[in-house]
Amino acid sequence: MYDKLIYDISEQGKRGVRLSAIDIPTKGNLIPENMLRKGRIGLPEVSEPEVVRHFINLSGKNHHIDKGLYPLGSCTMKYNPKINEVTCRLSGFTGVHPFQKAEDSQGVLHLMVELGEELKEITGMDGITLQPAAGAHGELTGLLMMRAYHEANGDPRRKVIIPDSAHGTNPASIITAGYEVVQIKSDAEGLIDLDALKEALDDQVAAMMITNPSTLGLFESRILEVAEAVHGVGAQLYMDGANLNALMGVARPGDMGFDVVHLNLHKTFSTPHGGGGPGSGPVAVKDHLTPYLPGPMPVKEDDRYVWAEPSPKSIGRIGAFFGNFGVMVRAYTYIHMMGGDGLRKATERAIINANYLRRLLENHYDLPYKRTSLHEVVFSGDRLLKHDVKTIDVAKRLLDYGFHAPTIYFPLIVHEALMIEPTETESKAELDSFADAMIKIADEAADNADLLHSAPFTTPVGRLNEAAAARALDVAYKPNDEL
Ligand SMILES: *Cc1c(COP(=O)(O)O)cnc(C)c1O
Repeated sequence: MYDKLIYDISEQGKRGVRLSAIDIPTKGNLIPENMLRKGRIGLPEVSEPEVVRHFINLSGKNHHIDKGLYPLGSCTMKYNPKINEVTCRLSGFTGVHPFQKAEDSQGVLHLMVELGEELKEITGMDGITLQPAAGAHGELTGLLMMRAYHEANGDPRRKVIIPDSAHGTNPASIITAGYEVVQIKSDAEGLIDLDALKEALDDQVAAMMITNPSTLGLFESRILEVAEAVHGVGAQLYMDGANLNALMGVARPGDMGFDVVHLNLHKTFSTPHGGGGPGSGPVAVKDHLTPYLPGPMPVKEDDRYVWAEPSPKSIGRIGAFFGNFGVMVRAYTYIHMMGGDGLRKATERAIINANYLRRLLENHYDLPYKRTSLHEVVFSGDRLLKHDVKTIDVAKRLLDYGFHAPTIYFPLIVHEALMIEPTETESKAELDSFADAMIKIADEAADNADLLHSAPFTTPVGRLNEAAAARALDVAYKPNDEL
């Protein structure tokens, strides 16, 4: 029954809830006659148990982190503790209106100020904004601040350097901020090539953006030399902190020479994400950039919390109201439940889990970069090509074994890439069964490539023509006249 559309189980007159009659006098018809709906609205009519079962069953059709391993590289799909959902639903938080005065929302400001202080400590930076609503939004914010800084020094510059392993949002943010992208090649080990960097550096370079550890899951071990070279031409060093799950509690971007770092609270700090949001991408900066931070800013004055107007040099507001406050409450809860030691252990276990998978799979898939991984490991499906099996086939087949696929075909510098990030919240048993499935699929590729071409078989829909499906969406339900 619950394979049907909710419209198909609808029966006229069924009710889930019944609102009591209005007991205040009504005041004639306030809506003009010509704007009133003439017919039935066409919503399904179902009982409360039917609607609950409908959505519970729908929730099982998709893969999600509460259902099984979700090793989507770069996305840090860790388990989201349910206590986060309890705290962010406290009525003191949900009942606050964004226009409410500071004296009536002390708890909200307190939480934001404290979260900011904690993130500054975790990153080793001096100032922070919580306004950006995502990592990419944080990148843009950081770039605009660096731009304002250069312009204030009378030295507007043109270019921003990224390595060829950069996440796609980096070049997009650079262009949006009005700069040119300069891409440099990684060296044979997958790290920043210092010679290529030095060649690209000149007095027109405004900044370099680096993800550390990189999207290859590798720590940039020469980061101090990179910082020295970048600062040597008067440029700023930006860290894409999306991979902070490999550093948190162990190493700080501020100690590596970074001037700016954005964080993805929705990745590292355990708030649910995927499908477009909501997220939170705080940006932390060193002292010389604090005047450029967006505002208004929540600050503590004596024993009260107030909204401080931005400094005259501020880049202004970059988001409505406070940013995504619910995400901040979840991240704050996570930090406080874990404590400093807990955060460090999470990082250590994320790294151990990735390296464990690396060892289990390194004889079955190609490993283009052999250095020890941090929190994720990037394989290549190259050796399966001789059986006419591609990485996309491996990804689809994994769904039949109950796992979400890793990130595929990224980073771009790895051919047939399979980017696996297990996170710290998976047990050894779960990692073992994921590795078993990956190994079985490699065997299937040799024995039965046709099977892999048609996978998946156990999901509500099988193999789609993804290009066609994305271009010719057909999701509209056409209600029959009865509704
Ligand atoms: C996820 C990610 C981003 C972008 O973050 P969003 O919150 O999705 O905008 C940027 N860089 C890297 C390396 C990422 O993994």
